[in-house]
Amino acid sequence: MKQGKAVVVGGSIAGMSCAHALSAAGWEVVVLEKTMSAPTSCTTGAGLGLDKLSHKLIQPWLKQPEKLDVMTLPLTVEYDQATDVNKNISRTLARDPSFNFKVVHWSDLHRLLYESLPPEVVLLWGHFFLSLSISEDKSSVKVVAKLLQTDETVEIVADLLVAADGSLSPIRKHFLPDHKLRYSGYCAWRGVIDYSDNENSETLKAIKKAYLDLGNSCYFDLGSEGHVVFHELINRRFNWVWYLNQEEPRFEGNSLTTKVSQDMIEEMYELAEKVWIPELVKVMRETKDPFLNAIYDSEPLEQLYWNNNVVLIGDAAHPITPHSARATNMSILDAAVLGKCLEKWGPENLGSALEEYQSIRLPVAKEQVLYSRRSGRIKQRLPVSGREIFDPMTASEEESKVLQIRNTPYFNVMPSILM
Ligand SMILES: Cc1cc2nc3c(=O)[nH]c(=O)nc-3n(C[C@H](O)[C@H](O)[C@H](O)COP(=O)(O)OP(=O)(O)OC[C@H]3O[C@@H](n4cnc5c(N)ncnc54)[C@H](O)[C@@H]3O)c2cc1C
Repeated sequence: MKQGKAVVVGGSIAGMSCAHALSAAGWEVVVLEKTMSAPTSCTTGAGLGLDKLSHKLIQPWLKQPEKLDVMTLPLTVEYDQATDVNKNISRTLARDPSFNFKVVHWSDLHRLLYESLPPEVVLLWGHFFLSLSISEDKSSVKVVAKLLQTDETVEIVADLLVAADGSLSPIRKHFLPDHKLRYSGYCAWRGVIDYSDNENSETLKAIKKAYLDLGNSCYFDLGSEGHVVFHELINRRFNWVWYLNQEEPRFEGNSLTTKVSQDMIEEMYELAEKVWIPELVKVMRETKDPFLNAIYDSEPLEQLYWNNNVVLIGDAAHPITPHSARATNMSILDAAVLGKCLEKWGPENLGSALEEYQSIRLPVAKEQVLYSRRSGRIKQRLPVSGREIFDPMTASEEESKVLQIRNTPYFNVMPSILM
């Protein structure tokens, strides 16, 4: 039987997962990543929440699956809380004891995935994707990439091109030049604070008193100025994200992270003091280099593949807001489903394999993107069609269940092709 060859553009979580899944399906895989080398520091990125399905899907890809447990912290409870510091109100709106996420540093998960790649997978760092062309008989795809170190260009011909090139995907742009990202109406101030060598910190003691179930739970605090997500990571590190409604910021280059000045950080702290409890503000103030992400998604796509030989996965396929903790989990699921479809149909029936991949993933992606958008708007007290603005100060426990992540459509549903 002919062995299929795939070129994957993007070597982040979707690209690495895809390399595992396609290799397991018997495909030859080449991954192109523009980053010059694998990130080494665990400070790259912040926390990711792996759900039950992702945890299960990743295990067989890993050389030492037990390492995944060592580097993740299980969070079993979701707390949604209302906070008004002026009125001295802090109350639990809803509590879900079946939260069941494992949080992990992006770079820890990334490293684990690429260090476990089978030796036959070719991983090319420092390769910037430039263009693609489909052969005249439409049986193959040619990718041109630039080696960033030398400026040389290389060409790779394959049966399949997988776009795992993130939410700004240049490959998606090739097919859908008019498809735009959509600004959510808010940005996220965020940071990770490390108390590993300062376990007796007064701030740490105070925050543990204020958030009694920290270490085991993910807290969502809703206030008059957006909402905060707060939880522990492994090794006494703590991740906080504050979503704040504001105008769309300006960006330099191809990034969705804005540069922040010391003045902007100081303004953020001053506002935080007016809306969040002092223990949390102290954590924010002691965090080194907080940064600002603008939050985007896009209208769900109508298709995920073109010409029977180019397919999108991960953020390239469905840019999504973070409120249902889907981006990474969807990437892993996309990769696993794509691998199984390719295995089922074989390289000679690529069209059928991609059609099945799309039929499984497109409806799920569409509903999850729209649900996460709606969920973010509810938590940010932005208008949502068909309902009144959510008021955390007056909402009942029943009304507050709308905030819980487990209500996301298809949550924890394993596609039958993977069973
Ligand atoms: C360094 C880094 C840190 C992150 N940290 C976090 C985090 O802490 N928390 C969180 O929730 N999410 C984080 N993310 C985002 C998270 O990985 C994704 O939202 C999700 O996992 C989906 O992943 P993805 O692989 O589809 O997209 P991405 O993670 O965005 O990966 C896209 C990849 O494509 C590569 N690429 C893009 N254009 C080209 C090109 N022209 N040529 C070659 N390569 C290209 C990029 O360099 C990148 O590695 C991080 C992403 C990165 C890259």
